[in-house]
Parts: sequence; C-alpha cells; structure tokens
Amino acid sequence: MSSATDQRNVGVGLNHGGATVKGFVQKACSPDRPLNDSLEGELQAFLTNEDQLHTYDDLTKVNPVTPTTVLKCLQARYSVKVFYTNAGCTLVALNPFQPIPDLYSLDVMKEYHCAPQPQESKPHIFIVAEEAYRNVQGQVEPVNQSLVVSGESGAGKTWTSRCLMKYYATVAASSSVVKSQGTVERIEKRVLDSNPIMEAFGNACTLRNNNSSRFGKYIQLQLDRCQMLVGASVQTYLLEKTRVACQLANERNFHIFYQMMKGATEEQKKEWMMPQGQHFAWLPNVEKTIEEDCFQETVEAMVHLGIDTERQRQIFRILAGILQLGNVNFCSSADESHLCNLEEQSKESMQRAAELLLVPAVELQSCLTVRMLKAGKQSVLKPCSQAECSVRRDCLAKTIYAQLFEWLVTFINNSICADQSTWCNFIGVLDVYGFECFQINNLEQLCINYANEKLQQHFVAHYLRAQQEEYVSEGLEWSFVKYQDNQRCLDLLEGSPISVFSLLNEESRLNRASDAQTFRIRLEKELCDNANISWDKFSKEPHFTVAHYAGKVNYQIQGMVEKNKDPVPPELIGLLQKADNPLLQQIFADKESDNSPTKGLSKVTVVSKFKNSLESLMKILHNTTPHYTRCIKPNPDCKPLTFKKEEVIMQLEACGIVETIHISAAGFPIRIPFKSFIQRYGLIRPKYSKLNSGTPSVDAEADSVDASQEVEELLRMVLQYQTFEKQSSLVHCGRTKVFLTQLMLDLLEGQRGKI
Ligand code: ATP
Ligand code: MG
Repeated sequence: MSSATDQRNVGVGLNHGGATVKGFVQKACSPDRPLNDSLEGELQAFLTNEDQLHTYDDLTKVNPVTPTTVLKCLQARYSVKVFYTNAGCTLVALNPFQPIPDLYSLDVMKEYHCAPQPQESKPHIFIVAEEAYRNVQGQVEPVNQSLVVSGESGAGKTWTSRCLMKYYATVAASSSVVKSQGTVERIEKRVLDSNPIMEAFGNACTLRNNNSSRFGKYIQLQLDRCQMLVGASVQTYLLEKTRVACQLANERNFHIFYQMMKGATEEQKKEWMMPQGQHFAWLPNVEKTIEEDCFQETVEAMVHLGIDTERQRQIFRILAGILQLGNVNFCSSADESHLCNLEEQSKESMQRAAELLLVPAVELQSCLTVRMLKAGKQSVLKPCSQAECSVRRDCLAKTIYAQLFEWLVTFINNSICADQSTWCNFIGVLDVYGFECFQINNLEQLCINYANEKLQQHFVAHYLRAQQEEYVSEGLEWSFVKYQDNQRCLDLLEGSPISVFSLLNEESRLNRASDAQTFRIRLEKELCDNANISWDKFSKEPHFTVAHYAGKVNYQIQGMVEKNKDPVPPELIGLLQKADNPLLQQIFADKESDNSPTKGLSKVTVVSKFKNSLESLMKILHNTTPHYTRCIKPNPDCKPLTFKKEEVIMQLEACGIVETIHISAAGFPIRIPFKSFIQRYGLIRPKYSKLNSGTPSVDAEADSVDASQEVEELLRMVLQYQTFEKQSSLVHCGRTKVFLTQLMLDLLEGQRGKI
C-alpha cells in the first residue's frame, strides 16, 4: 500500500543559527576533520551487527531508521520473547498470542510501581501505566492522563487496556466499597467487572480475532486526592449493530447470544424458548467453542454491578426475542392483496418473538409488513415488499440491541462512577479500532479511518508541541523543518463548507431514494480539487478513494447514504414503547413515537453523531497528557510466537511508526540535567580519569552556569575525536539540561566504557 505521507516532510530541528544555541559543538568538530577510525568502525558495527539487534530497547537507536531496520529489530526481539519496545515517545507492543508467565504478575506490577526510575527498566506496558500514574500528581498542578492504545484487529488493544486497568486496580486500590444486593464490593472489582459485561455484549468472534471488540471505548479511571481509584466512567463509540442481523461467513454474532445458548440452565432455556438443538439463523458457527463463551462469568459480573435477577430476566428475554426474529422470513402472497406473508415455518418464531418481547403478535407482524405513509393529515397504509419486510425485521433487531447496549453502558456508569466530590483526577484508557482497509469498505470503515486520522493528528501535534515547549523553556531556539500534518485529509472528510461528510449528510437529508451514482457525481464535482480523493474511472461499482495518512482506501458508495440515515420506522418504536417488558419500555421511552413519516427517522445522521462524539473525545485528549501504545499483530492467524514480516511492516506503516521514530530522532529525545550528566560522563575527562578514579564530585550548590561550562568542556572533549557532518544535530546545551540524540548518547557511553 503506498503511503499518503510520501509528499510529507515530517521532521523537527533546531534553529542552529539562533543566539541561544551553543555554537561550540560546530566549532569543535568542523566537518572537514576526518572521522576517527574506531568510531567509524563502531558505527558500521551498529549498522550491521544483527546479533545485537534484540538489545535495542528503543527503536530510535536503530540506525538508519527505515521500515526494514525497524522491522529487523522488532523481529529479533520477538524471537527472544521480548514483546515491548520503545519508539521514542511511543511503546510498541507485539502480541505473543500465548500467555507469558510472570509478564503481568502482581510482583511485576509492584516492581514497576516501586522502581525509583521506572523508565530505566526494560520497556513494558506497566512503565507507561506508572509514568501516567506519577504524572497525575503534576509538579505544579495535577494533570489528567490519557493512555491511547491503537492497532489493528487482534493486535492486543483490549488485552492491553485490561492490563492497564488491572494495574491501577492493584497499585491504586482504595478502601472504597459499594453495596450491592446486600453484599459489599470493592470498587476496583466493580470497575474490572465492567469488562466481561461489555465484552459479552460488544465483542464477537471475527475472521481476525476470536474476541474482537465491535465498539470503541474510552474509560476514565477516577482518582481521589491520595491517588486512589475511587470509580470510573465509560464512553463507547459506534457499536457495530449490523452484526446482530448479518454476519460474514465464518464470523459470529455477539458473544452474549452464544453464552446464553451454551451456558444457561434447562429452565432458563425453556423460559427463553430456546429448545435444545434449535437452529437460529442469526447464530452461525455455534459449534465453534471459544474461551469467551462463558455465561456464568457475565452473569456474575452483572450481579456484582447491581443488575438484579429481574432485570437480567428482562435482558435475556429481549435477547432471546431477537434470536427468534432472525428466524422470521417473509414471502409474497399468492393473492391480489400484495401483502407479504410469513413463511409457514416462521409463524411459530414470530409468535415466540412477540411473547418474549411482550408485544402483541399481530401488531408485531403488521409493523414488519405494512408501512404507514402520511398524506397531509391522513395516514395511508402501504404493504411492504418482501425485501422491505426483511429490512424492517433487521432494523427492529438492530435498534433493540443497540439501545440495550446503550442502556447497559449507562447502567455500568451509574454503578461504577464515583461521586463528583470524591475524585479529582483521572487516567483515561482509549481502546479504539485501528485503521481498516478491506476489500469492500463502507461507512463503518470511513468513520473508523476518520477517527484514526484525528488521533494521528493529535499524536503528531501533541508530540511536536511537547518537544517545542521544552526546547523553548530551555532557551533553545526552535524551528519546524517544513512540517505538514494530515490536515488536508481531515479537511476532505469533515471540512466546511464542502467535504465528504457534508455532502453525505446533504444526500441523507434529501427525502428521496438514495442513488449511489448521484452521490458519486456530486463528490466528483465538488471535491475535484482535493488531492486526497480520487476515482477509478473504469470501475463499475461507484466508489471513491481516500489517501489516508496510513494508506489509500477505496470506499464503496452503494448503500452509504442509507447507512448514514440509519432510519427506524416510527411504527417500530411505537410498538416497543407499548411492550410489556419494562426494560424495553424504559429504553424506548424518550424516543420519537409520533407516527408521522419524518419522525422516527433518526434526524442526526450516523456521521454527525460520530463526529460529535469524536470531537468531545479529542477535547478530553487535548486536556490530558497522552501516552501512546501501538499494538502490533505479528501474524494474521493468531499463532503463538510467529512473526510474519509482511504483516508487521504493513502495520508499522499504518500506524506511522517509522515516522514517529524519525520525529523522535530528529529532535533530541534524551535530556539529561547538567548535574547527572557530569556525574555520569565526568570520567571521560582526563583530569578526572587521571586524578580521580571515582565519580567526580559535583557541588550540589554549583549554579547552572558553572555546570553548563563543565558540560561544554566535556562535550568538546568527546567530540574532538570525531566529526560528523551535522554535529550540531547531535547535541545542544539548554539552561539546565543537555539535549542529546541517541547517537550522541551511544558515543558518550562508548567513551565512558573505554575508561
Ligand atoms: P479488536 O480490534 O479486534 O478488538 P484487539 O486489538 O482488541 O482486537 P485483543 O482482543 O486485545 O485484540 O487481542 C487478541 C488476542 O491476542 C487476545 O484474545 C489474546 O489471546 C492475545 N493477546 C493479546 N495481547 C496479549 C498479551 N500481551 N499476552 C498474551 N496474549 C495476548
Ligand atoms: Mg479489542
């Protein structure tokens, strides 16, 4: 896949001519002085010594930074079972696809939590966790933190998010308790118990991952003044509700349905009208057994969170009702009525669905087969075609399921959210779907990839801003070396007044039958000047191609407008509001029920709703200190300890990891306070090495001017042995710190090692 970033020149640098930049480095090692032989040798060794590649715990040390060298380094580490590697400000996590004993144990948690300098330990997700935890209690004022976990399906985002939550539930365990059904629960347990419930209802077995999250999630872990975990809140994004009524070959519906089928008692199955051996059209691949088919765990978590037995009954009856709906099929009637009838074998399923949802069967059938049109003040009933009946059936199931999921999330929030007065800071964990590029991509992928564009923009902006701020505060002059971000792609997607989203919304609001060609022509006409969108003139299917930062993606236009409208016929909502199931009544209580044809249609389009929720998320991220973890899936088959280069390289490209390393390396990733610098490298100066065998003593009171001179002298010492073409890009002295590239650090370490 060719990268959309080709034309970009991402990088940062210092204004070398600036008055505040120390010029001595340049003077001390002019480019025409020959490179010291031994050093050249070291460099060469660095490039070619593959045996040592696994020792590079930060990819900024790899030289030169190319997709191939980065890949080699990661592969070397994976082969010796090292799964975490730093990439400047980002942590790269390779999925081992097998439990690794002791990698996440309590002892390991404690070790990282108690380490004086966790960053100096081997890369690990717990370092990210601990860093965020320590950052919360900022030096000046507390700063909220966000842990952004990204990667493709099956890469390990949810696993990582769970690890992070467990870490905080352990190191920040509070004495807070909550009461539920007469028992007392610790709040951490409740927070962790939200996971199995959300995964049961929101995850499914797909071709890529047996436990694939079909929604995005941002969970805020709330901390009190003493940094103890006192509660949490969850925000979810874009549940893939189509899965309820339509599953790709070899994929499954949401876990919860299989859990019910496999884990319920005979009595429960009787109540849910699920006789042994009954086939459900919406439950493909029942025979496939996976770890997540664990009904008891879900029920226990529900109990812990305070979902009482009666509520559970209502939930499971609704789910069983949905399954019965899936077995309802329609056929055209033989007579002149034009009405669609139920297929003979569907009649019982329709009865059962009605009974489980507690709605009158006749009304259910009529809602699915007859459309109500408003003509002036009069209502006209119009029979639906066979295809329309199926669409209405699917729509009913999807709507119920999506609303039930939303209700559950609200319930979970009410159960785990601490009282506003008891918490003051939070650490947010974001587990979102990664960049997607399938053979056929539609509105879902457009939204997901748009979210990834937003996150990428935030990442680059934040990282560069953070670097810039420190350089400025240290008195180093800063300039961007011609940097372009992915703003153009974002303008194409969401910009104003004309963009893909604005045109899509316009098409969706026009009350006419959606036509893919019309939409395509409009896109082509209105957006022809934008270099990030293109069309294959010879393609039969109407589509458009967007050049994302992670690569080009073809989007199919057919069905996109309709998906964006996501209409729900008002008759269906009216029916659900009248249901005798109290939960259904409750979750549809505030929905439009008027029977006018415009009501009931969701007026807010999918894209607008998603854009708004993403904007709120971005606002939160902007106000927090972010930490990035990029999960990588080493092979497509989820095989333990198997590393497929082609797979990995595509993901490295898609998450812009090489670019991240370049940005890190172009700046000065290593910053050492003068005092520590002299303590460590003072030995290199002959005066110390000859006169003093130990570490030079540095007067703690010595002011930074003296320290700065000391450091300059030291650097001059080291650098006089060699000349690089761009010495000033190796090191700079700030007001209180030395700024170094990794290469410079290696040089210093090399010199130190010789003494
Ligand atoms: P999706 O986008 O489909 O939700 P995901 O990125 O959330 O995917 P996970 O469900 O977290 O992927 O991980 C997939 C599987 O990989 C897990 O079920 C688990 O078996 C395995 N796995 C992930 N990370 C680890 C790890 N650190 N150690 C052991 N196994 C892991
Ligand atoms: Mg997941």
